[in-house]
Amino acid sequence: MKYKHIIDQLTLEEKASLTSGKDFWQTVNIDRLGIPSIFLADGPNGLRKQKAAADHLGLNESVKSTCFPTSATLANSWNPLLIETASTLLGVEAVAEKVSVVLGPGVNIKRNPLAGRNFEYYSEDPYLAGKVASAFIRGIQQNGIAASVKHFAANNQEFRRMSIDSVVDERALREIYLQPFEMAVKEGKTKTVMASYNLINGVYANENMHTLKEILRDEWGFDGVIVSDWGGVNDRVKALQATSELEMPTSGGQTVKEIIQAVKDKTLDESVLDEAVDRLLSLILETSEALKGKLDTFDQQMHHMVAEKIAEESIVLLKNENSILPLKKDQKVAIIGDFAWELRFQGAGSSGVNPTRLDSILGHVQHSNFEFVGYEPGFHRYGKKKQGLLNKAIKLAKQAEVVVLFLGLDEYSETEGLDRSTLMLPANQLKLVEEIANVNPNIVVVLSCGSVIDLSFDTKVKGLVHGYLLGQAGANAILNVLTGSVSPSGKLSETYPLRYEDTPSAPYFPGLENTVEYRESIYVGYRYFDTAKKDVKYPFGFGLTYSKFKYSNLKIESDGVRFKLKNTGSYDAKEVCQMYVGKKDTGILRPTKELKGFSKEFLVKGDSKEVFIPFDEYTFRFFNTKTNQFEVEPGAYEIYVGSSSVDIELFGSIEQEGNTKTLPYNKKDFPGYLSCDVHAISGVEFEKLLGYPIPNPHFVFYKKKRMKVDYNTTVQQLRYARGWSGRFFAWGVRFGYKFMRLIGQRKVANIMQMALYHNPMRNMSRLTGGAITWGQLDGMITMFNGRFFKGVSQFLKSGKKKNKKVEGNA
Ligand code: BGC
Repeated sequence: MKYKHIIDQLTLEEKASLTSGKDFWQTVNIDRLGIPSIFLADGPNGLRKQKAAADHLGLNESVKSTCFPTSATLANSWNPLLIETASTLLGVEAVAEKVSVVLGPGVNIKRNPLAGRNFEYYSEDPYLAGKVASAFIRGIQQNGIAASVKHFAANNQEFRRMSIDSVVDERALREIYLQPFEMAVKEGKTKTVMASYNLINGVYANENMHTLKEILRDEWGFDGVIVSDWGGVNDRVKALQATSELEMPTSGGQTVKEIIQAVKDKTLDESVLDEAVDRLLSLILETSEALKGKLDTFDQQMHHMVAEKIAEESIVLLKNENSILPLKKDQKVAIIGDFAWELRFQGAGSSGVNPTRLDSILGHVQHSNFEFVGYEPGFHRYGKKKQGLLNKAIKLAKQAEVVVLFLGLDEYSETEGLDRSTLMLPANQLKLVEEIANVNPNIVVVLSCGSVIDLSFDTKVKGLVHGYLLGQAGANAILNVLTGSVSPSGKLSETYPLRYEDTPSAPYFPGLENTVEYRESIYVGYRYFDTAKKDVKYPFGFGLTYSKFKYSNLKIESDGVRFKLKNTGSYDAKEVCQMYVGKKDTGILRPTKELKGFSKEFLVKGDSKEVFIPFDEYTFRFFNTKTNQFEVEPGAYEIYVGSSSVDIELFGSIEQEGNTKTLPYNKKDFPGYLSCDVHAISGVEFEKLLGYPIPNPHFVFYKKKRMKVDYNTTVQQLRYARGWSGRFFAWGVRFGYKFMRLIGQRKVANIMQMALYHNPMRNMSRLTGGAITWGQLDGMITMFNGRFFKGVSQFLKSGKKKNKKVEGNA
C-alpha cells in the first residue's frame, strides 16, 4: 500500500468515513492528518460546479464555464486530437474552480435511438467511443486532476434506470458494452470510474464482483477509484467488497455505520477497507496537489474559440443536392425556424452547463457573404400549432432564393432520466417543411438535436446539415459551414434507420418491469444493418464534404493498412478514412464488418498523401465465452477501407495465425442470430446464448397486485403497496407529473419523473444527505407495508432522535 503510513494512523471510523461523501459533491477531510476533501463535479461537455444548492439533475445554477459540444457531437468530429485539446481546456476550468474529479466522459453504447441520454454518449460503436473517450480523459487528466468514465456498465436507457436489470450475454457485454471502458482504462488511463445505477445480470453494477473486481481490476489492471453514481449504492458493504471505494453523495453517516459494524462483526475484512482507503488517498492527495498554486481564472475568449473549432469539425453534412451548399455570395437567403434564434446547444440533466456566452445564428448572420432577406420563427418551439407563424414564414420564403430552415428538438425532449417516445420531429415543424417546399424548392435544413430523429422529410429538401448540440459557440460554426469558409468534415457516429422499428433492439427496448433483455446481442447499430443487409436512411460513418476524395493503392501490412488519399475536388477539406474488419470464413457468429481504425486527414485541393491506419489489440479479437478470454480466430480476414460503413473504396485481406483452440459454440444452434433475424430471437435461443435462465421480467406480487415494500421498491412500484399510504404516495407523484404536463410545466414534470418516480425508497434517505434518516425511512416502509400507525410512530421517534443529536451537536 502506498499510503500505509497514513492508514496506520487512521481510526476505523475515520477510514470508513472516507468512503462516503461529506456532502453532495465533496469527500470527507481529516484535518489532523492533513487529508483534504476534494470536489467532484460534472461533466462531459463543460464544467458544472454548483456553488450553493446542490443537485444531480442540473436544476440549480452552476458557475459559468465553457459549454463545449455535447458528447454525441464531439464523436462526430472523429478527431481525438482536437477532442483532447478541448478537454484539456475543460480541465483547466476545473482546476480554476478547484475541482479534482470531472464526472465524464459517458461512454455507454447507443443501443437504441430513443435512449434519453444518447446526446451525452458517443456512439453505437465501441471502438469509436473508446478512442474518443480516451482522448477526452487524457485531456482532462493532463491537468493533474481526474476524469470519471461513466456509467459502468450496460446502462443504456433511462427507463427505470435505478432498478432495471440489464440481461446481456457475456460476449456482447465484453465486445460491445465494456470495450469503451476497457479502452478508457488502458489508453485513457482514467483515474476514476463511475459505477451505474442498474443491475447487470442480476447484480447491482456498484457491487458487481464480475464487472468490477474480475474484469475492471483484475483483467484490465485498474488501480484508481470507483465512485458510485449519485444515489447508486444498494448494499454498501457488498459494494466495498467489490472494490467500489466511494459512495456519493453523503448518506448522512448511515453507510459509514454499516461499514464499521461489518468490520466489527468480521463480515468485512478490514484489509478490504484499508486497500480502498489507500486508493482513495492516492486520488485525494495527488489531485489536491495538482490544484495548488494554479490560476483561478481562465481565458474565456480562447476557450470559446476552441469550442467553435471543434463544433465546426463535428457538423455533419448529410445531403447536398445540386451543390446547394455552400451558399453563394450575394444569394438571397431567408432564415426560418425558432432554433436560429436560439440554437439548442446542450442536453438537459446533470451535464447542463451555464455557458460563459451563447452565440446565435441571428447575432452573426450579418457578417456572412450572402444577402440576408429576413428571419421568421415559423413554428412554436414547444409544438403548438400557430398558423400565424407559418403564414409569415411562407411569405418570407417566397422572397428568397434559398431558405435555411432551423429545426430541432426542444430542451425538454432530450433529457437525463427519460427516454424519448418517438423519433419524429414535432408535427408543426414537419408541416413547415412541407409548406415551404410548396413555395420554394431550395431548402437547406439545419438540425439542432442530440440524437437520431426520423429524417424521411429529407426528400423535400436539397440540403441537410446535422449540427447535433454544438455548445455555446455553435452558431458561428454553422455559418462557417453554410457559407463554405469551412468544408464540413463530421461523420455520423450512429446509424439513422429508415424507421424506428428497424432498430435491432426495438422489440426489446426498454424492457418490462424488472429486466431489459439485450436479445440482439452483438448486433448493435450498423453491425446489424450491415449483416442483415437492411437499408438505412444514413449509415454509420457517413458525412459529406464540399470536396471529393479518391482512395487508391491499398497495402495491407502486418501492423496496419496503408493507402493513398487524394483530394480531387475544388475545396481544401478533411476526410475521415475508416477501416473495417470482417471474417467471412468463421466458426462463430460475427457481424459482416466492424470498425477497427480511422484517421482524419486534411488535404489541400489537388494534394494527396499516404495514410496509415494501424492494427491494435482490438483488430482481430473476439471474446471466447468457453475459455473466458479474448482470442483471435485463425484464418483470412477481410479489410475494408472507406468513407463510411457502406461506402467502401478499398478491399483486401490478411491471414492471421490466431490462437483459438475451442470455439465458444456451435453456430448452428443459433439460427436466429445466424440469419441475423434479431428482431425475433426466441427465449430458448437467447437463453442458450446467455448461459443461464432468463430472469422473471415481471414484478413479483405476494397476492393480486400487491407487493412487499423494501428499500429497493421504487416510488412507481408503490402503487402496488399493501398500505393505502404507499399507494396514495405513488398516486400523488403520478398525479403531480400529469398535472404539470397538463399545465405546460414540462421541466417540472420531467424532474418529478426523474428525481422521484423511478427512485428506490432507499434514496429518500441517501439522496437527501440523511435529511430523512434511515430510521425514518424504516418508518415509511412500515407505513407503506400496511402498518400505518406503527410506521408513523417509528418515523416520529426517529425524527426526535435526529433532532436531539442536532441540538447536542449545536
Ligand atoms: C448522473 C451522473 C452524474 C451524477 C452527478 C447522476 O444522476 O447519472 O452522470 O454525474 O448524477 O450529477
